[in-house]
Amino acid sequence: MRSSVKYRIEKQSPLKQYIFDFLFNIIGIQGEKCNTFSNRDQLNIYYGNNPSKNCKIVMLEKVTDIIWKQLIEGKISESDNNRMVKFDIVNAISHLITDEVNKNLSDNAYDTHERLIFSRSFQSKANIANVPLVNSYVNFFRALLEQKLSIKGTPLWPKGKKCAIGLSHDVDVPDRYAILKAPLFCKNKDLKWRIVTNLKKAKAVIEYTMGKASDDFWLFKDIMREEEKYGFKSTFFFTSVNQFDEWGTVFDVAYDIYSRKFIEVFRNITERGFEIGLHASYNAYHNEDYLRNEKEKLEKIAGVEIVGLRHHRWHIGKDQFKTLRMHEKAGLEYDSSIAFNDHIGFRRNIALPYYPWDEINKCMINVIQLPVFCMDGNLFYRPIEICDAIEKLKDYIGVIKQSGGLGILDWHVRASFPKNSEYLNWGKTYIKLLEFLSGDNEIWVTNLGDINSWLRERNKLFS
Ligand SMILES: [Zn+2]
Repeated sequence: MRSSVKYRIEKQSPLKQYIFDFLFNIIGIQGEKCNTFSNRDQLNIYYGNNPSKNCKIVMLEKVTDIIWKQLIEGKISESDNNRMVKFDIVNAISHLITDEVNKNLSDNAYDTHERLIFSRSFQSKANIANVPLVNSYVNFFRALLEQKLSIKGTPLWPKGKKCAIGLSHDVDVPDRYAILKAPLFCKNKDLKWRIVTNLKKAKAVIEYTMGKASDDFWLFKDIMREEEKYGFKSTFFFTSVNQFDEWGTVFDVAYDIYSRKFIEVFRNITERGFEIGLHASYNAYHNEDYLRNEKEKLEKIAGVEIVGLRHHRWHIGKDQFKTLRMHEKAGLEYDSSIAFNDHIGFRRNIALPYYPWDEINKCMINVIQLPVFCMDGNLFYRPIEICDAIEKLKDYIGVIKQSGGLGILDWHVRASFPKNSEYLNWGKTYIKLLEFLSGDNEIWVTNLGDINSWLRERNKLFS
């Protein structure tokens, strides 16, 4: 039977309610909200600054609390708190999960693709990018419920697994020579577009004459074979709008999913039980019609329902709320587009699935966010040895496991198997990483669609 707790929020707000819903959902218990003053003595949890004598857990409100240093340093245990929690974890989680901590930054905190530059982020300045603080607060709260109320929740992960690692691949340049198959002329494109496109074409011609293999970026079968060795199945994010399409830009992909090669690969991916997701185009975030159109186009050609996405180049704009809200309107179930582009780590200090907050409508967005902690380039944009890259990944996975969380990996298709000279070490690292993950049966390793389905099934227990 589901466990339930009676709680009261003294100064109600939709955001505070959203944080309590998030806490109860992750821990796997039912919250029973008590609004009236008369029943406050029967409360299990009280959040506010005017507690009654009988309540078993009192959480004091303090709007300045964000980083609980003593907890991170292991100096606090739930048994130290008699019944009064003096650090406001509700306020802290709300500031991190909504990215309030990075609000109102100047324009130079963002790169040309409107992505927050790591060194300008709150996470960098506070030196906490490698700490999933939200997980720590959730785990503290869970332990408190167990100790003070003898309440145990429903596990977050299936089959006794301690954490989940999601495998995903962005499909950006699966075909070296895709650009050579593109149309010669394109209407409505500016001079910059023409110059960049022609330079890319010239590069492809040079590679072709140098004899670079035409299929050494086309690694779908190699990737699936390597993952299948361990029973893993990943997600491939494909783009259905390329740089030649109406709202395509020079930053978009050159390939065309209508070509026979793609039709075959879609069939192969689906038959083997892997997932196809949408790699939304560079401009998709401007307009929900663009997003819906891209989703439907991919569904039509791939012949499967598309439930999840990731934006190409993490391009979701500075107004992240607006883009996340758009996902719901376009009928998507999960997104995995929140990460640092130039650094490994926890972009919002969270290694857990969550429904993002909608700041305008003051409610949650019904599209699960699956946070990425590492993209291949986070390690390989700088010179690094394979063994050091693996050690770094192991450290992060260790933190995710220890905190009972979720971490998504993003490895580009051309870099997920050692078959070309450009991404040799990237590919070798990915293969070694799979081997490492296969050696730990407490980690649930799967694709993002499976994680989404599991979480939605589990949610039914609490609705
Ligand atoms: Zn991409």
